[in-house]
Amino acid sequence: MISFQEAKSIVDENLFQLDQDKVPLSDSTNRVLAEDVEASMPSPRFDNSAMDGFAVCAADTIGASQENPIELKMVSVSSAGSPSDVVIDPGECAQCMTGAAIPKGADAIVMVEDTSGFTDNKIVQIMIETTPGKHIRMEGEEIKKGDVLIKKGTKITPGEIGTLATFGIDKVSVSNKPRIAIFGTGNELVEAGNTLEPGQIYNSNLYVFADLAEKAGTEVVMRDVIQDDKASLRHFLSDALDSCDVVISSGGVSMGRYDYVRDVFMELGVKEHFWKVAQKPGKPLFFGTGQDTLIFGLPGNPVSSYIGFMEWVWPALETIMGKNTSEPLTGKLTESFPREPVKKRFLFGKVWIENGQLVCRPASKVGSHMLTSSLDANCILAAEPGDGILNVGDNILVNELPWKNLS
Ligand code: AMP
Ligand code: MG
Repeated sequence: MISFQEAKSIVDENLFQLDQDKVPLSDSTNRVLAEDVEASMPSPRFDNSAMDGFAVCAADTIGASQENPIELKMVSVSSAGSPSDVVIDPGECAQCMTGAAIPKGADAIVMVEDTSGFTDNKIVQIMIETTPGKHIRMEGEEIKKGDVLIKKGTKITPGEIGTLATFGIDKVSVSNKPRIAIFGTGNELVEAGNTLEPGQIYNSNLYVFADLAEKAGTEVVMRDVIQDDKASLRHFLSDALDSCDVVISSGGVSMGRYDYVRDVFMELGVKEHFWKVAQKPGKPLFFGTGQDTLIFGLPGNPVSSYIGFMEWVWPALETIMGKNTSEPLTGKLTESFPREPVKKRFLFGKVWIENGQLVCRPASKVGSHMLTSSLDANCILAAEPGDGILNVGDNILVNELPWKNLS
């Protein structure tokens, strides 16, 4: 058994970088940007109106009020989508819609609500005094041409894809999606939809893996539940090693009589880097590499599998996709936490902000077979090895589940 930190370093040393590809913007969701994206134009691209109203010379409105409106002659209209060729002189105004270019000569917009609107003789009463720049979105006030819009290593989520579209970018360089094989092994496993015979249980881990793999931005190309049988394992695994970047298994790596996964990995030429890490749950973690493949063998208890994926597989996937990984946060415990003398201890937990501080509590169900301990969780809490429990008020590491909100 090796320490968590030692095992982490070994995994990190064996990570590689996936190739990159140029994909249409609409296919880029959840992918990781392979290069910085720069703004090819300023935003806003031209001075434009933030309101439906009238473009005026601010100096003309001095002293204007409800009781003492000032009259301006409306000489033109500037609408969104039209070229900016409208001009006004002092004493004049132009109707100007949201997003429309500011007419030359104008330096402020008065909202429709602060005017009379215009009459048949094109006279507009202005009922408010305004100042230069009012309700004008200035060219480049948000982004200057050449600014880095989004940094290499950023995952593309709605904000990123919308920003890329704003700048007219139709193709983006992203990391290839890791090709993933997931499998579970156990004679007791039955797929949902079938009737359980005595001693059987439903496979849940592969559903968790598939969901996590998708959230991580990967492509699951092989997925199967396999009996505790060497020939079946060999068959699946040799295909997986040939065609996948990452193989993730659940079950069959412990000390049980039918735990064949490790044996079969080795028979197929996988190089074992470690087996068994000082952590709870999930001690019998296997990590190996094939020719161009990372192999994570996670123990089958559902909490060990889920937490094992998040602590080991997820960061590895992010790194090979070139994503900048995030460090764990620190939170204060509102309930005690069961530390272990030599193992790093993980539990699902809930984290929230109280009086400007991150506070958290562990799930009350602590068994590694109790997957419902994840239901209310938005993070995984981790205590370094040590004597005795962690008490209320002590600090603990917090790994947020990225798709959950602080609550
Ligand atoms: P193992 O790691 O094979 O010793 O399995 C440990 C525990 O996890 C046993 O109780 C198994 O029945 C359970 N288990 C293994 N694989 C799965 C799975 N895919 N879904 C749910 N439970 C599993
Ligand atoms: Mg088993």
